[in-house]
Amino acid sequence: MKKRNWLVWVCLIVVLAAFWGWRERKFIERYPPENPAWNGEALGTFYSVKLVGSRLTNEGLERLKTAIDAEFEAVERSMSVFREDSDISIFNRAPVNASVPVDKEFAGLLKRALEISDMTGGAFDPTVGPLVELWGFGRDGRHAHTPTDERIQAVRGKTGWQKLSVSKDGVLTKNLDGLMLDLGAIAKGYVVDRLAVAIRGAGIGNFMVEVGGEVYASGRNSTGLAWKIGVDSPLLNAAPGKRLVGIVSLSDRAVATSGNYRNFFKGENGTLYSHIIDPRTGFPVQMRQTGVSVIASDCATADALATALFVLGEKDGLALIDKIDGVEALFVISGYGVCFREATSSGFYETVNYEHLDSKGQTL
Ligand code: AMP
Ligand code: MG
Repeated sequence: MKKRNWLVWVCLIVVLAAFWGWRERKFIERYPPENPAWNGEALGTFYSVKLVGSRLTNEGLERLKTAIDAEFEAVERSMSVFREDSDISIFNRAPVNASVPVDKEFAGLLKRALEISDMTGGAFDPTVGPLVELWGFGRDGRHAHTPTDERIQAVRGKTGWQKLSVSKDGVLTKNLDGLMLDLGAIAKGYVVDRLAVAIRGAGIGNFMVEVGGEVYASGRNSTGLAWKIGVDSPLLNAAPGKRLVGIVSLSDRAVATSGNYRNFFKGENGTLYSHIIDPRTGFPVQMRQTGVSVIASDCATADALATALFVLGEKDGLALIDKIDGVEALFVISGYGVCFREATSSGFYETVNYEHLDSKGQTL
């Protein structure tokens, strides 16, 4: 009797263990890792997404990935100058005073872009595209020689954010012949914001999303702390993340960076011409190797302001940021060798958790 009892128990344990193993396997099959991360290419750049504590099933994760691809596709369809059939290309080809209807997202972004043009005294100008092309930073990506002054002024005459109007119902009109749109200085940040909405919509509160170096960090990372985002040294052509000057800890905020250390050309006299154009002169901004990072509650604003600050320079740029609530900025300007000088908006150190690193990447 006792022996039979013992046998029953063994059988029961074996059955339970088998059931447990089967359930675990089913669970693993159904659920991806708790902190899934992936990256890819879109909008001519790289992107990455990291989720923390996600309770998504495999199907849920696949749905989210599809939703993210759909966001990229929607942004390309309306804002890519590389697509002949995009809304932006249709607008760029349209004659003066023609009405070009666009979707409400595109119209909303343009309104925001024009607000930032106004706020920055035109340092950020989404109509600067023809000058970008003239200086050889355009669609074909080739670097041109310095154009003549007459040519620069003639092309500059075809730009001007005030010559663009967006009606309430999303109709765009150019009031100047040849006016074109280039949203390259705000689009990456804008798409980051759209991806953040899609990820939140999937019920995830802790995540980080990055498109071409522009970042939004939500909630906490996998160690339960704010997300740590590296600030690159403005070293010519250094790969992103290779050499950092500091680390920003972010939670529910965005950071975007503009600089002249990746996309530039050197003139005959060694001057560094950046791909960012000063709309007031028609010339590329000429500065020492510099990076400007802007922190804001949304990434489109951070992105556009980073470009504007690059145009305005340290003094005027930081004075502007000091007047805008909830936005901070950090300039990293090259000195000699690998030494860099940092200059910040007045609330930067108080409101941003920033860890400065020495030239070997050690915390000071
Ligand atoms: P970002 O890398 O965000 O600073 O954006 C730079 C891109 O924005 C350039 O490649 C141009 O396409 C465009 N751009 C250049 N200068 C300006 C400007 N002053 N305002 C707005 N967009 C600009
Ligand atoms: Mg920008």
